[in-house]
Amino acid sequence: MVLEKKSHSLTLKQIPVPSPGTGQILIKVKVCGVCRTDLHIVDGELPDPKLPLVPGHEVIGQVVTLGPGCAIFSEGDVVGVAWLGYTCNSCEFCLHGSENLCDKALFTGYTLDGGFAEYILANEGYCYPIPTGYANAAGAPLMCAGLIGYRSYQMISSFSETIGFYGFGAAAHILVQIAVAQKKKVFAFTREGDRNAQSFALESGAVWCHGSETQAPEKLDAALIFAPAGNLVPKALTDIRKGGTVVCGGIHMSDIPSFPYRLLWGEKTLRSVANLTRKDGIGFFETIDSIPVQTETKIFPLEMANSALEQLRSGGIRGAAVLEIG
Ligand SMILES: [Zn+2]
Ligand SMILES: [Zn+2]
Repeated sequence: MVLEKKSHSLTLKQIPVPSPGTGQILIKVKVCGVCRTDLHIVDGELPDPKLPLVPGHEVIGQVVTLGPGCAIFSEGDVVGVAWLGYTCNSCEFCLHGSENLCDKALFTGYTLDGGFAEYILANEGYCYPIPTGYANAAGAPLMCAGLIGYRSYQMISSFSETIGFYGFGAAAHILVQIAVAQKKKVFAFTREGDRNAQSFALESGAVWCHGSETQAPEKLDAALIFAPAGNLVPKALTDIRKGGTVVCGGIHMSDIPSFPYRLLWGEKTLRSVANLTRKDGIGFFETIDSIPVQTETKIFPLEMANSALEQLRSGGIRGAAVLEIG
């Protein structure tokens, strides 16, 4: 499924199977999750995508061909491909543990072809071994929603006991399971009146869930914003206590309205999370090895990728949308 022009729906096309260069592996795609970032790319909200582009960065598949110099995986291994697809390994960011900020980074399904296809090429060093239990549609949302949720969670103090989740979709429904297992209390906020999302949050382990305009019932230690709505920022700052942190987990957000400085006062921190590092990926898979997570998915065939995107846009997906391909 190919994006040929910005702000156009995807086109089902026959394209040649790529062959791996040095350090690359060819993967037969089994499943690929559909992420809100795919929607932002298709809608032209992120600058300069590769065009034409095969979107999709929550890929799980099987290695079919190894390029020259590959030494990590073997043919037949089940691997995952995430958003971070390449970094330079030599810039200031790469050398200091922030490869997620590398200026030369390439991203799967954005500046590299992604997984809305039967085959994908990936740089071997940026792929993850996938535990058997997750080598299916249920594992696909882990590759971005799970990873970005986890990175956002790492940005708040580990002493946080009460955490607000703003927006309850794919990332939140994975992360709440880890947070609850670590004895945190999760307070979830959804779109006003979104009863489906609210019952989903409560069933997934949140202790409380209301529309995002409702004041949190107690002061929160931290807030994680997953919805791309800038007006949640001043709201979350209102909900957290002194010294607390608000993390914006999305790649794109509507403008943040101006707000009085007193909302930030009291040594509150407001920050974003950009992309991910491979270290995050390893940490996340270690975490779900001891805290297994379950995902709720809605499955679509590859050629229905446009419907999956449309349903994601309208808020009609409970959990995560996944394309089942091979
Ligand atoms: Zn770099
Ligand atoms: Zn994503």
